[in-house]
Amino acid sequence: MPHIDPPLLSTLVIFFLINILIAYYLLHRYFKRKHYLQIKIQDLREKINILNTENAKENKNEVALEEKIRRYNKLKEIIEEIGQGLDLESIGDSLTDIAFSLIAGDKGTCILYLLDNQTQKLNLFKTKKEDRNSTIKAKEGDIFDFWVLRHTSPLLIEDIRKDFRFDLEKIETQAYTRPISSLISSPLISEHEFLGILRLDNSLPGFYSQDDLRFLVTINDLGAVALENGELFQRTKDLAIHDELTSLYTKGYFLEALREKCNRGALSQDITFSVLMLDIDYFKNYNDKFGHTSGDIVLKNLSRNITEFFKEANAVISRFGGEEFCIILPSLNKNKACKIADELRERIEKTKIILRKQETHITVSIGVASFPADSSDSHELILKVDKAMYAAKQKGRNRVCAILSS
Ligand code: GH3
Ligand code: MG
Ligand code: MG
Repeated sequence: MPHIDPPLLSTLVIFFLINILIAYYLLHRYFKRKHYLQIKIQDLREKINILNTENAKENKNEVALEEKIRRYNKLKEIIEEIGQGLDLESIGDSLTDIAFSLIAGDKGTCILYLLDNQTQKLNLFKTKKEDRNSTIKAKEGDIFDFWVLRHTSPLLIEDIRKDFRFDLEKIETQAYTRPISSLISSPLISEHEFLGILRLDNSLPGFYSQDDLRFLVTINDLGAVALENGELFQRTKDLAIHDELTSLYTKGYFLEALREKCNRGALSQDITFSVLMLDIDYFKNYNDKFGHTSGDIVLKNLSRNITEFFKEANAVISRFGGEEFCIILPSLNKNKACKIADELRERIEKTKIILRKQETHITVSIGVASFPADSSDSHELILKVDKAMYAAKQKGRNRVCAILSS
């Protein structure tokens, strides 16, 4: 073994140790730095993830915002479209069309219910469906519609099966013919009056957003004003064509319907119908004996009786004058019309009327004329049926007469 000078040896050992220390120090620094960098990378990755999530959210918001802008740009068109309709039918069609296409993208189902003021029940008025074969069983609404009716506020359900507000068992017993998982619904309210409900539902959960509901509420705000105007228009129209005392059609409406039927008959070879004119016998006597108000009760009673008698006949029944009634009976020739008119006469004769606690009866004289046997012209038909009724009076009243065709 070579001899090494001790001072040199100790220098070498020191040198060696110093090198080891330096190496250890450098390695330590290296690992520390590596660890630091790994944490930094981790940090950055997390930041990138957060930024990505935020970016995705922003993108989603941007899409939602664009959709919002697209919808609200449509508002002007919507106002025009809803405003164009005067009658309830066309307003209802517009509302369901707009909600179904603009909010639901023509997916799922859209239903418009109107509230019947008298019964306070909802009535199915219009529907739009993705699946044309599905039928809506709840003609008077389901538990969700009743909720909107009761709370008079909009409703958003993301998943029916997870919504604590509704009893799942009840939902399952409603036996929908279509699957429902999510829905939005909003009341149509005008000047504090509940007019109806417009709702959308879908088989997928979470199909609708808060924005969708907000837009439905906006459509309904516009729709409610239009529906109220439509109802007013309908009522005015009804008043114009219905007699106030009996609610039967007015003379004007009857003559128009008769003219239209004659015109349609002129275009076709096989149209037959008959007209009845009915007048109460000795009605003046009832007025004299029981008073004018009682006379009015008789007129109402008779109107109900005639309406009931012809309820399956698709007849046009009108109050033609004071105590005179005219009726169009579709598809009936003179013979059949005379037979039916006589059955009606007999029924009226047998009907008890209580006036001032006294039981009384009325009789009527009925004239019959037919299209085309007696005439193809509405004016002439009226003249002939009037003549026939007059003949019934002449022959002693309480009978049915028809003019013999020349
Ligand atoms: P007939 O037809 O058998 O010849 O005799 P009538 O007594 O019925 O005679 P007419 O048909 O000419 O008389 C109609 C009467 O009907 C006159 C009027 O007092 C009564 N009248 C007409 N409109 C109303 C009404 O809205 N309410 C009441 N209470 N009476 C009416
Ligand atoms: Mg008369
Ligand atoms: Mg009379």
